[in-house]
Amino acid sequence: MSKPKVFVGRVLPEGGLEMIRGACDADVWPDELPPSREALLERVRGVDGLVSLLTDPVDAEVMDVAGPGLKVISNYAVGYDNVDVPAATARGIPVGNTPGVLTETTADLAFALLMAGARRIVEGADYVRAGKWRTWGPMLFLGHDVHGATLGIVGMGRIGQAMTRRAAGFGMRVVYYDPYCNPEKAPFLNITVRCDLDELLAESDFVSLHVPLTDQTHQLIDARALDKMKKTGVLINTSRGPVVHTDDLYEALAAGRIAYAALDVTDPEPLPPGHKLLSLPNCLVVPHIASASWATRTRMAVMAAENLLAGLRGERLPNCVNPEVYDARS
Ligand code: NAD
Repeated sequence: MSKPKVFVGRVLPEGGLEMIRGACDADVWPDELPPSREALLERVRGVDGLVSLLTDPVDAEVMDVAGPGLKVISNYAVGYDNVDVPAATARGIPVGNTPGVLTETTADLAFALLMAGARRIVEGADYVRAGKWRTWGPMLFLGHDVHGATLGIVGMGRIGQAMTRRAAGFGMRVVYYDPYCNPEKAPFLNITVRCDLDELLAESDFVSLHVPLTDQTHQLIDARALDKMKKTGVLINTSRGPVVHTDDLYEALAAGRIAYAALDVTDPEPLPPGHKLLSLPNCLVVPHIASASWATRTRMAVMAAENLLAGLRGERLPNCVNPEVYDARS
């Protein structure tokens, strides 16, 4: 029997890729840059399965070009805003994601960004590299304490809770905004205070974003929200770029209405060279690396492979974002 045909949108860590290559006739996109729209449409034609990445918009056209044999879309990320899930559900296609395995690694980076913003680590390192360090100075690179400060978490899901655990170790007070989270299911949340978004923005020394990108969270942090933050406030974004209004953030940072922003994700992404955000000394941007540890990216690849292979066998995906496709079948 011939193996199922799949398209894998990028070279993934071994482990996951081995599983896919062993069970499938796999076409793996070899380049560092994602396939163009035309290339994606060409490569998905007639596939049984697709491993997509957050850089690849998978919409109804992609699914239709793939054709009626498309049995599964396995997204190599926990966020799945790049996939038109209703369109997949309408076609009976299960969509997989990789929750949980990247929670701690992502929170590690979010906390590193928090500390870098608080203590101006990158500005300080740049200053030393530029040969400007002449002496110890009483006023040199003064920042803000992390211990004892208030951390506001927007989106108290897996990663928001992992940030809360880190904050507890640093003696921080934590407040959170999440209209959907059930505090009874997360008992440790009794060390935190639930509040509305405006209260959180006004009270927090650090505001860290951990929401999925949806219609409700698109540009949730705009000029109005930034104006509510403390002048000394630091914004950390490891969620998705469009959760923050880029032009409004630039204005707020340039005018000193907030102190600092540390971003793993941006809108647009990647930021083009010379983008105005990169001209600001109080804005730190890293290239969407929150889940980028060897161990985590390998676990994600295995999980994406497990979702793909289950879907190809017609079995329920271990991690499925649209389980209603199964209700429709039964
Ligand atoms: P999760 O589903 O466990 O948590 C998301 C939380 O956000 C939930 O508790 C939900 O109730 C809450 N939420 C949803 N809409 C909201 C709204 N309008 N206002 C406030 N809260 C809202 O997801 P997670 O595993 O914690 O991941 C969160 C997001 O982080 C992902 O969707 C993904 O986009 C992003 N992420 C980014 C990276 C990265 O590399 N930078 C890595 C992992 C995850």
